[in-house]
Amino acid sequence: MSGPVLELEAVVKTYPGNPPVHSLRGVSLRLEAGELVAVVGPSGSGKTTLLHLMGTLDRPTSGEVRLAGRSCGRLLDAELAGIRALHLGFVFQQFFLLDGLSAVENVAQGLLYRGVPRAERRRAAVAALERVGLGHRLDHVPARLSGGERQRVAIARAVVGRPSLLLADEPTGNLDSASGAEVLAVLRELNAVDRTTVAVVTHNEEIARSLPRRIEVRDGELVA
Ligand code: ADP
Ligand code: MG
Repeated sequence: MSGPVLELEAVVKTYPGNPPVHSLRGVSLRLEAGELVAVVGPSGSGKTTLLHLMGTLDRPTSGEVRLAGRSCGRLLDAELAGIRALHLGFVFQQFFLLDGLSAVENVAQGLLYRGVPRAERRRAAVAALERVGLGHRLDHVPARLSGGERQRVAIARAVVGRPSLLLADEPTGNLDSASGAEVLAVLRELNAVDRTTVAVVTHNEEIARSLPRRIEVRDGELVA
């Protein structure tokens, strides 16, 4: 499919309160298929809010979000959940792995809402772990993995269903610089090899500078 993967048009997000918080003040952007983008900005500038709106985890106060050409504003929550399950993968600073499950079981969870049969889920999970360099850690539970390995499991879970767009919020924030570099290398490879569109929120200037495109958020607005 051609055309942008994601479009935001004049997106505003205001959290009610006294005074209200103007988290995003009118953001427009377009991500084309195959892009690899850094989202940077000071703490509190609206990066996480932006990522949540890009991923339809939250709805804008006004403005429009279009995923794969489809306008999301009028969709029901259940329809959005279906679109997320098909098109999106998420990675967060905290890995959100389930302690009692092995790496391969954690990754297979990423296919639960796609109606994939169990044996196929496992096969795909093994393949995804191999893609992030963890083919030798299939049966390890999270407690027996390093921080960098846990984040790579989380990435495998996010991409096991081959999403068109991967959204990562400070994925290296809890990692030492060597593990962070490994995680970034995995994201680059998924982008280069699988053509997954990737947007990464990062505080790390070095990481941001190394990516082909940079989106900078300041006080709820994009800086040109
Ligand atoms: P960043 O990720 O860049 O640090 P955020 O998007 O988390 O910034 O937050 C942007 C602004 O929106 C901040 O002022 C934050 O306090 C506010 N904010 C974020 N989420 C909520 C919420 N659920 N309710 C009220 N204010 C919020
Ligand atoms: Mg944030």
